[in-house]
Amino acid sequence: MSEGASKKEEKPRKFQAIRGTRDLLPPDTALWNRVEQTAHEVFGTFGFGEIRPPIFEPTELFARSIGQDTDVVSKEMYTFTDGPSNLPEQPDEFNIGQFFEAVGEDLEKGEIPKTAANERAIQRMKAAFAEFAEESRRLPLGFFQEQHEGDFAKAYNEKMYRAIYLANKISRGEVVSLRPEATASVCRAYIEHGMNSLPQPVKLYYMGPMFRRERPQKGRYRQFYQIGAEVLGGSDAPAIDAEVIEMVMTFFDRLGLQGVQLDINSIGDRNCRPKYVELLRAELLKVKDRLGPDSQRRIETNPLRVLDSKLESEQGIIAKLPRIADHLCEECAAHYAAVKHQLEMRGVIYRENWRLVRGLDYYMRTTFEITAQGLGSQNAVCGGGRYDGLVELLGGPPTKGIGFAIGEDRLILSLQESGKAPTQQGRDVYIAWMGERAHATAIRAAKDLRKAGFSVELPPVEQKFGKALGQADKLGAKYALILGDNEVSEGLWTLKTLADGSQAKFTELDLLEHLRKQETL
Ligand code: AMP
Repeated sequence: MSEGASKKEEKPRKFQAIRGTRDLLPPDTALWNRVEQTAHEVFGTFGFGEIRPPIFEPTELFARSIGQDTDVVSKEMYTFTDGPSNLPEQPDEFNIGQFFEAVGEDLEKGEIPKTAANERAIQRMKAAFAEFAEESRRLPLGFFQEQHEGDFAKAYNEKMYRAIYLANKISRGEVVSLRPEATASVCRAYIEHGMNSLPQPVKLYYMGPMFRRERPQKGRYRQFYQIGAEVLGGSDAPAIDAEVIEMVMTFFDRLGLQGVQLDINSIGDRNCRPKYVELLRAELLKVKDRLGPDSQRRIETNPLRVLDSKLESEQGIIAKLPRIADHLCEECAAHYAAVKHQLEMRGVIYRENWRLVRGLDYYMRTTFEITAQGLGSQNAVCGGGRYDGLVELLGGPPTKGIGFAIGEDRLILSLQESGKAPTQQGRDVYIAWMGERAHATAIRAAKDLRKAGFSVELPPVEQKFGKALGQADKLGAKYALILGDNEVSEGLWTLKTLADGSQAKFTELDLLEHLRKQETL
């Protein structure tokens, strides 16, 4: 069958965005742009510069920094092997020869990892493949037409399966993941570009999509967007923590976000936290039978996360558990007190929440979360905290760090719920034209108006004026510019204000002047 014929038989298929992903459309995207523009402006005034890290990184970067046992790393990442495309996915008896040739070339080109383990694996496969090739040369003529029986077949099969087995041991490429968050990437970049030799601290912000395979619901997506910032450097001065928090609050304030609530906590450091976690574990074991299965499991894996529980039946039990604030070491207690003082100096209103622990492993000392109205159960719009030591864990110099990530989808939802969103992307001017000469004038008028910054709709085909004005109304245009034969020959253009239906005539020059004045009123 020819290719064309097989194409014809393909049934049309309707595609939909993958579960947990969605299209952002106008007029919503105008709000997204406003939010992002405001972030650029506000963060710029705090001396932050933008970083745009890649969207995928080695899986190990996330496993090491976020923590192997976290839900994000153990269950939610989109992970794949970034192997060269000419290698068959699964080497088998039909393509083992092709696989063998391609693997050698790709190793040379650096397309598959040039690690010692890989070079060894390739050597072993080479040897096995040579034996297999030798065996296949010894096969009697017509072997493939007959039953695969007898000693020949046995030796042939054994050698072939051994070569295939060894081929599968070769690591075809790096295992990579779509980023579930960006802090790890920023730290990786800080190390990679030797940013520790820049004036400290280094203040960076980012925005863009993140990917987690969570159960989708309102405010929770599999591709979602974060706007975040990180401060990396030699100092862990409490004023740094406070200024970062002040910056997020300033940003939310500038956007007019409603019902903003800032919760803060300190979760101690390597000195005091392990002791507290043990104490917490011991107390939790005493009440284990009264806890749900999730919390029971967390007693072993991560007792701090039990404090996160929203289960009604567990609330009374949790209220009686020991609180970390009473178990901080002297340095952490002093740091926490100073952060609170610094927030007060900046007029930032906060609430202490001893149950605030963050889901990711790398946090220490200051943690914070901001909630906003109109979001139901997924009401956290921002989470952040201090992560001294993360850069070191990723092979960099000893470095202090603090940062936050705002859930942009939720921020937008909250702004929309409180009526802060533009409802329609209106046009300033709709040009209603009739006749060939008027069309030429209309094109020129559109060009000049757009150059002056007005949003203009120029219909591609002639329409009766009545229809054109209806269209202008539907698009939410402020004005209709009417250009017919009369207007063109007189050099006087008719401008209709759609809100009140009033009309006036202007020369080309006066029209621009008039519109400019109206816009600045
Ligand atoms: P995290 O990186 O888990 O600390 O999350 C920081 C913020 O990102 C949260 O407060 C949410 O606003 C947002 N966020 C996290 N996961 C999702 C998701 N699956 N969908 C939408 N927003 C999310």
